Amino acid sequence: MAVVMSGKEVSARMKEMLLAKVSELKGKGINPTLGIVRVGNRDDDLVYERSILKRFHTLGIDVDVHELPEDISQDDFDSQFMLVNDDPYIHGILLFRPLPEGLSDNYAILHMNPKKDIDGMSPVNAARIFAGENEGFAPCTPSAVMAMLAQYGYDVAGHNVVIVGRSMVVGRPLAMLMLKANATVTVCHSRTQNIQEICKRADIVIAAAGQAKMLTADYVTRKSVVVDVGIDTDSEGNLCGDVDFEKVEPIVRAVSPVPGGVGAVTTSILAENLLKAAKMLG
Ligand code: NDP
Repeated sequence: MAVVMSGKEVSARMKEMLLAKVSELKGKGINPTLGIVRVGNRDDDLVYERSILKRFHTLGIDVDVHELPEDISQDDFDSQFMLVNDDPYIHGILLFRPLPEGLSDNYAILHMNPKKDIDGMSPVNAARIFAGENEGFAPCTPSAVMAMLAQYGYDVAGHNVVIVGRSMVVGRPLAMLMLKANATVTVCHSRTQNIQEICKRADIVIAAAGQAKMLTADYVTRKSVVVDVGIDTDSEGNLCGDVDFEKVEPIVRAVSPVPGGVGAVTTSILAENLLKAAKMLG
């Protein structure tokens, strides 16, 4: 039987540390505040927003939601974003992406204060993560993968890690975090050949391809530790991950479920990053 790596448990273990940091900041007269910028009302944005509001409320962190109309002009979006960016009461910004069609996030990403970029979107933070620096912010999801493995005691140093997916939000920054943690990293993508064999040779497999249940029993062995980043829907319309959990779980050493896996850790990482930003900004 595999160890099922629960995001809820990881989050629960992080709670005490987060509460202590909030209390320390408040003791110094700093009220940590997150600014969310949301354009329109996409379902997945609203689900993520609700989970942030709930989590941050239990931690005593304020959240300012800036909801902008879906038909906002590019100029108005850019200037509204900069108002949030320049607001001294806001310590960190989360911009829900992708933006509606026709709207670009280029200006926002290039001009945002890197110290408030707690989801690692700006080129400044990307460069810092690429260089393996301690300063700066990595996107929350790859950091959540690292936190989950660490909390369950799976040291990546010296081990073979295969990441399936090379996006700027998950696969690429995760590869950099893994390298920094001394893993030997292979990144697979839609053009990779023999992907099943490559995954089978890995100690740790991270599935971040956005393909429902693609990682079947043919990709794993008894020694595999599998982290599922995917948030997909199966052929019956049910929420699932990139891993075929029912088939993989009886074989592997450990696996994270969807829902209740990486996604549940992401909001805690967002809170951790916000508190780091609030401390830096004062
Ligand atoms: P993207 O669609 O941006 O990237 C998917 C990546 O997977 C690409 O690099 C693509 O390759 C690769 N890929 C696609 N199909 C295959 C395949 N059959 N075999 C191998 N590689 C493949 O997705 P994201 O990175 O944004 O998201 C990935 C998943 O993670 C999604 O399910 C998303 O919903 C989820 N997600 C979860 C989060 C969380 O907090 N848990 C947060 C963000 C995302 P190529 O580059 O060649 O096209």
